Amino acid sequence: VLYYQVQRDLRTNRNVGYEALMRWQHPTRGLVMPVEFIPLAEETGLIVEMGRWALRQAATDFATLDQSTRVAVNVSPVQFVKSDLVADVTGALQVSGLEAHRLEIEITEDVLIEDTDNTQKVLSELSKLGVSLSLDDFGSGYSSLAYLTQFPFTKLKIDRCFTERILLDDRSRALVTSILALASSLGIRVTAEGVETSGQLAMLTEGSCDEAQGYLLGRPEPFQKAFADK
Ligand code: C2E
Ligand code: CA
Ligand code: CA
Repeated sequence: VLYYQVQRDLRTNRNVGYEALMRWQHPTRGLVMPVEFIPLAEETGLIVEMGRWALRQAATDFATLDQSTRVAVNVSPVQFVKSDLVADVTGALQVSGLEAHRLEIEITEDVLIEDTDNTQKVLSELSKLGVSLSLDDFGSGYSSLAYLTQFPFTKLKIDRCFTERILLDDRSRALVTSILALASSLGIRVTAEGVETSGQLAMLTEGSCDEAQGYLLGRPEPFQKAFADK
């Protein structure tokens, strides 16, 4: 099943998007979290079918809303290699009727490290379709700055480990400030992940971060629940 976590625009204070996060509703074990099953699904190749399903389900859910909220779907590096991602995304948009600009694809730098012709081709085709591309977990790995100019990203997501530390140490705060300045000069939007306190939110708003996501603003919840009163 897909749960959805809200993303808030810090300038307008509006909920502008949701990230789709997968859970496994297990008959005896209850709700199983992605850390427990995604690596296994990647290993077995089952992630290809699960990822295709997630794209369709998220697009279908959001196409029913009469608001123009975006939905972001996580895509595994394995899907780049083992499936035709462009065909899967096109299929999801066609089946659901969702406008391309309302769909965002979140990828991690693992996909880019290999920098094959295929990666470049897939990303530029996705971008041509009109879907947004978001670089997830920025700052957690090598995060070569070159990725931002080499590939057509419209957004980067600052990893939770930095958000956690912005009020605790000056270096993390300086790093976040620099990422924000860099992204802004490249015309890339920034979402801070894992915002848990109002102090963190205030600091990010002051630093002109575009969007925030985290438990403070809302936990991931089932579609019906997320939109119950909307
Ligand atoms: P991610 O893409 O970095 O997703 C953000 C994770 O941070 C989610 O964990 C979310 O529940 C959690 N989170 C959000 N706000 C906060 C906060 O304020 N504090 C803390 N401590 N955590 C917060 P989740 O749902 O367990 O997902 C873990 C990872 O599993 C995701 O990390 C993503 O890499 C992967 N994943 C989830 N769904 C999918 C999917 O449909 N496909 C693929 N390929 N991977 C997925
Ligand atoms: Ca993500
Ligand atoms: Ca992330």
